[in-house]
Amino acid sequence: MTAHPPGLMGPPGRGGRFGEFGGRFVPESLVPACQELEEEFASAWADEGFRGRYRAILADYAGRPTPVTECHRLSERLGLRVLLKREDLTHTGSHKINNVVGQALLTARMGKSRLLAETGAGQHGVAAATAAALLGLECVVYMGEVDLRRQALNAFRMRLLGAEVRSVTSGSATLKDAINEALRDWVATVETTHYCLGSVMGPHPYPWMVRELQRVVGDEAREQCRRLLGGADPDYVVACVGGGSNAAGTFAGFVDTGAALVGVEAAGGAAMARGVSGVVHGMRSRLLQDEHGQVLEAHSISAGLDYPGIGPEHAYLGSVGRARYVQAGDDEVLEAFRLLSRTEGIIPALEPAHALAWVVREAGRELPRGSNVLITLSGRGDKDVAQVMDMLDG
Ligand SMILES: *Cc1c(COP(=O)(O)O)cnc(C)c1O
Repeated sequence: MTAHPPGLMGPPGRGGRFGEFGGRFVPESLVPACQELEEEFASAWADEGFRGRYRAILADYAGRPTPVTECHRLSERLGLRVLLKREDLTHTGSHKINNVVGQALLTARMGKSRLLAETGAGQHGVAAATAAALLGLECVVYMGEVDLRRQALNAFRMRLLGAEVRSVTSGSATLKDAINEALRDWVATVETTHYCLGSVMGPHPYPWMVRELQRVVGDEAREQCRRLLGGADPDYVVACVGGGSNAAGTFAGFVDTGAALVGVEAAGGAAMARGVSGVVHGMRSRLLQDEHGQVLEAHSISAGLDYPGIGPEHAYLGSVGRARYVQAGDDEVLEAFRLLSRTEGIIPALEPAHALAWVVREAGRELPRGSNVLITLSGRGDKDVAQVMDMLDG
């Protein structure tokens, strides 16, 4: 049978495939839950009433639309025209709110009352707990014991928001183990529970659903850029990539334009640069593995980019050449973090500082002078300030 490549960033092919990537690699017991979710999301997303409620919460609660800011001082310095899509200005401070609001609304629509989430650094856990509080859902967040110790403040935030935080001690006691534990809980509780995955990964329909819920970032930015650029699209659209949701949402708005799409990974993660094709967390994608097929740990200064894989649609967009994936290292990321703070008065999260670091490095090289460059500023840096202070002092 020949695979039908899906239209770029449209609905996935049969079984949730993006070329050879994606799919649904789950235990028998989870197949009905994934099928139900696929059907429910498809019908909700086609329902103007559902979309209206989603848009209303994003507008009145989360603060959308977020602006696109032209960075005059940074642009002059780099010899580029740099525009930032300001997801840092949303409620809870990152693009993650777009996804959790959609999935929490879907939970209620399915008649379920309990929301599960996994979290690494705690950002998705806080976002999920926020959406659950807003809609009156019970919320349980799985978090690796190691991450819990590193991110005690975020765990406290989740509890303040009414969520129960469960410590995971299996494996390396980090994000990938928290995902496994959340999947295990879901198998046992699927009647009452929705699993709210935090990025464009996992079994079908998650990579598609989360991309659609993040598409608002790219759709808004496209219109805003056209206004700023006299009807033109940016030459480059750049976003950082952990699992890949802020990049997917951004790219979805520009995939049918002439803009070059660039995803920036942490050099110590780099599933696109150093990963191999494999199956993990219910999907086929590119991931960091050793020669025995064991999933390796990813390392970066930003916990949000510490995922050892990448969403399957990015693996696909890379394989067909529509998007490029590049890397940024810790030192240049710290430099970019400081540069944006000083030149524009915006302290970025360390994750999007990766996207910025690549632009700074390539200005006047790969990025010709005078290029229009849109960068998605996926979140604000408040959460990272203490860590950066330690790194600069140490
Ligand atoms: C979680 C997070 C990321 C990484 O997640 P993606 O799914 O790759 O977008 C990036 N930036 C910020 C601010 C985050 O909180």
